[in-house]
Amino acid sequence: MAIAQETFEQLRTAGLAEIDPDIAELLGRELERQRGQIELIASENFTWPSVLEAVGSVPTNKYAEGYPGKRYYGGCEVVDEIEDLARERAKSLFGAEHANVQAHAGAQANMAVYFAILNPGDRVLGLSLDHGGHLTHGLKVNFSGKLYEFHHYGVSRETMRVDYDEVLAKAKEVRPKLIVCGGSAYPRTVEADRFREIAHEVGAMLMCDMAHFAGLVAAGIHPSPVPHCDFVTSTTHKTLAGPRAGFVLCRAEHAQALDRANFPGEQGGPLLHTIAAKAACFKIAATDAFRDYQLQVRANADTLAAGLIDGGFDVLTGGTDTHLVQLDLRATEWTGAAAEGRLDECKLTVNRNTVPFDERPPMVASGVRLGTPAATMRGFDEDDFREVASIIVDALQDEADIAALRGRAEALCDRRPLYPGFRGYTTYVA
Ligand SMILES: *Cc1c(COP(=O)(O)O)cnc(C)c1O
Repeated sequence: MAIAQETFEQLRTAGLAEIDPDIAELLGRELERQRGQIELIASENFTWPSVLEAVGSVPTNKYAEGYPGKRYYGGCEVVDEIEDLARERAKSLFGAEHANVQAHAGAQANMAVYFAILNPGDRVLGLSLDHGGHLTHGLKVNFSGKLYEFHHYGVSRETMRVDYDEVLAKAKEVRPKLIVCGGSAYPRTVEADRFREIAHEVGAMLMCDMAHFAGLVAAGIHPSPVPHCDFVTSTTHKTLAGPRAGFVLCRAEHAQALDRANFPGEQGGPLLHTIAAKAACFKIAATDAFRDYQLQVRANADTLAAGLIDGGFDVLTGGTDTHLVQLDLRATEWTGAAAEGRLDECKLTVNRNTVPFDERPPMVASGVRLGTPAATMRGFDEDDFREVASIIVDALQDEADIAALRGRAEALCDRRPLYPGFRGYTTYVA
């Protein structure tokens, strides 16, 4: 048979807008959606143009199962250099002995650690999901909860913070092989040094999942878990502001087990275009400008928490040590779901979240999780976050003027443009 040359030629040279206007239009609409609302989802960020470029690059064409210098495919000499750079930069950024940068996402990073050191049925102790943990820390319907015997510690009812004496008591009772610290909705410092003492006392290994606060660690404004842990896992797309992906750091003694657990244990070929983007992300994260950005993320989170408290709302733990603020709505008539909907009408994007000891189910929830990394990335400062807090306070009143509130949010967006100069996708032709 003969290929229809003209059409084939077009497919081989045309850009997305020409080949698939439907998707190009949707990408353009998603860009405008991101530009036109205030992003307060604590796990999201707007990555760098340089990272977007790497994610859309040609190593997506390359199979490279294995590791640099030990691949199962030919033609890996260039991608070996990419992965080596990413590994070296991760190690130097976080002061780690070994880095594996192949995890497709945060969940796979955690899976790699579990596969490296646990057998099915082994006991693990982690922060419970409804107190701020993560589904990969032993939720029953997640692989972690199905494969391993997870037990959970929570936060104290009085302080809403991890009570390290309780963790120790629980660890003595459970005798876990691994203790997991870190989570997705914990606004305070994760004190890995104290978890280390507990792990030491019960003979457990220690893993910190710093998916949320890795950017703060890179900038030196959250204590690093690396010196205290056998393994540290992370995403690259949250505070770290890189591509949607994960990575694992560990002590040299675990390097071989970790690498084998990742491949061939749980993944096939690595996504080397994404690994190239991770390398760029680690390079950026080592700069003074990145540290300044993280300091602004922190200052904005303090401003947001203070503004909500001044407006009469409860903030879990009374504030934050990180980028994350948990609005506790139990003293109000709002559910998390209703508040999420109202804020959405006002062009503020948030997610409902259970608070510890919540009596509502997760789909309804009694809290809203907020974060400052994304809005800070588009240039929001403390003044802007005073206004954000004020919009939230005004929005969660019975007689809120939605149109006026939306106007205030749009004014902030106009003043702080996202990806200025980026022309979008609808006009792109290679
Ligand atoms: C986000 C997150 C993950 C999972 O990351 P994905 O990239 O969504 O798989 C794992 N652990 C914690 C604590 C997280 O916050």
